[in-house]
Amino acid sequence: MTFSISGLAVSRGIAIGRAVLVGSIRVDVAHYFIEPEQIESEIDRVRRGRNAVVEELQRLQDELSPDAPQELAALLDVHLMLLQDDTLTTGIKHWITERLYNAEWALTTQLEVISRQFDEMEDQYLRERKADLEQVVERILRYMKGVACPVVSPPSSLPRKTQQDLLLDDTMDVPLVLVAHDLSPADMLQFKKSVFAGFVTDVGGKTSHTAIVARSMDIPAVVGARVSSQLVRQDDWVIVDGDAGVVIVDPSAIILAEYGYRQRQMELERERLTRLRHTPAITLDGHRIELLANIEQPSDAAAAVRVGAVGVGLFRTEFLFMGRHGRLPDEEEQYRAYCEAVEGMQGLPVTIRTVDVGADKPLDKSHKESHLSPALGLRAIRWSLDDPAMFRVQLRALLRAAMHGPVSVLFPMLAHTREIHQTLAQVDLARAELQERGQVCGPVRLGAMIEVPAAALMVRTFLRYFDFLSIGTNDLIQYTLAIDRADEAVSHLYDPLHPAVLRLVADVIAQCHAHGKSVSVCGETAGDVEMTRLLLGLGLRSFSMHPAQILAVKQEILRADTRKLVPWARQVLLADDPAAFMAL
Ligand code: PEP
Ligand code: MG
Repeated sequence: MTFSISGLAVSRGIAIGRAVLVGSIRVDVAHYFIEPEQIESEIDRVRRGRNAVVEELQRLQDELSPDAPQELAALLDVHLMLLQDDTLTTGIKHWITERLYNAEWALTTQLEVISRQFDEMEDQYLRERKADLEQVVERILRYMKGVACPVVSPPSSLPRKTQQDLLLDDTMDVPLVLVAHDLSPADMLQFKKSVFAGFVTDVGGKTSHTAIVARSMDIPAVVGARVSSQLVRQDDWVIVDGDAGVVIVDPSAIILAEYGYRQRQMELERERLTRLRHTPAITLDGHRIELLANIEQPSDAAAAVRVGAVGVGLFRTEFLFMGRHGRLPDEEEQYRAYCEAVEGMQGLPVTIRTVDVGADKPLDKSHKESHLSPALGLRAIRWSLDDPAMFRVQLRALLRAAMHGPVSVLFPMLAHTREIHQTLAQVDLARAELQERGQVCGPVRLGAMIEVPAAALMVRTFLRYFDFLSIGTNDLIQYTLAIDRADEAVSHLYDPLHPAVLRLVADVIAQCHAHGKSVSVCGETAGDVEMTRLLLGLGLRSFSMHPAQILAVKQEILRADTRKLVPWARQVLLADDPAAFMAL
């Protein structure tokens, strides 16, 4: 039966495909497709993981003292039965063999399938045994990762039900849509290498980093779809409407035909836009506008060049640091990554931002759980300044990479003059360390992100220290309006057109012009075609966005006349309700 789920539209386009559910297990799980020749070794990896856990539990059972609580013995029995049950192993083999999922992904997918069966059981006691299954799977996953885990759980018994009927024999060429409760930015990067046609998550806001990565991949996505991961089942047909923010499950033939038609229309529009690739971005009244790319990985430089970006305005280096279980990239690894981006841009300027972990970009899952208000905590430059030796590893790698092309270094989340001094002192120290080693540094321009209201209000101070500024509207909106950008519950209040936000943005642009310093916007508003004319009217001449947005924004610029937009933008700034004014 067809039904739809509403969420937030975060990445445009329409995807039609089969749902792939990703469970919300507490262990970091990598998801990737394997090559057919790896099938046997992946099955073997799970087998070894499972056997090791069986042995461990049997050993525990043997060592159990006679006065140990009976419940503990019963618990071990149940876990052993679950581990040795065919339902688990047959299903895992299916996902590895038929879908080419890696071992961990196959394990969690099968967990999801069996969990649904538990959920549907009438007997409450049996239904609650799902938790035991989750623990057993988590144990295997931890073993496969080399992390030991303690035995803690209530006693339970084993429900029996076959899942053969749930196994589907689809081939790999059907488009796949990923459905999950939540996806970390690091998960998203894993998926970047995969073949998903669309994404749906239960949680997340429009400018959460997961949404940003989906946009950077130019894949239709809906976030904040509340209970989608509970309502959609593995292999259901789904349509992701990334423009309307709607997910249609099990669509009828008529709905499928309608969306198929819209999908083709959008593809034609995209093709038409590619003709603008070599056209300079010049307004009707002759202002040349700089269109730069935001990238998350060095390899993204290729997409930036493909759409005619004139440089990189924001390389978010934190993605190099994520999901590594505490082992951070060393100077050589970072240096190679920055060089790859610089060389990938073929002589065009590259602005590389120092690491911005924290908030909704945890290093890994444990990091996220250990912080109370991560957006207000030790993130971005605060994290770097908290560990100056680690910070200088990055700075040295950046200074060395600057030998290979024009590099600017950008610092995130600065808010205090003291932090500015500390940051610049670390840059000097990093230069001195390289000199001492006899290594040369390239020339770099230094810039600051303006993404905290405090920074916007003291912009003149920033201009004394930095060569350029970049306005991070995603955080500037979050911190000005006190709206967690990753929380779908308050996403209706996240407003780029709020008068307070607009005044801060307008003032930063005006101050930069007055002091002869360059300024760009690198938050999501830069890539929003609804905002292009207003930003031009406020005097902005440099926009940095995902490569996928560049041609659509260029089209707006080619139709714009700043002589008309400047007085109009002034009126928008004075309006109580700028959005309503703009609609008029
Ligand atoms: C911003 O805050 O607008 C920005 C570009 O930085 P990030 O989205 O990575 O926090
Ligand atoms: Mg930011």
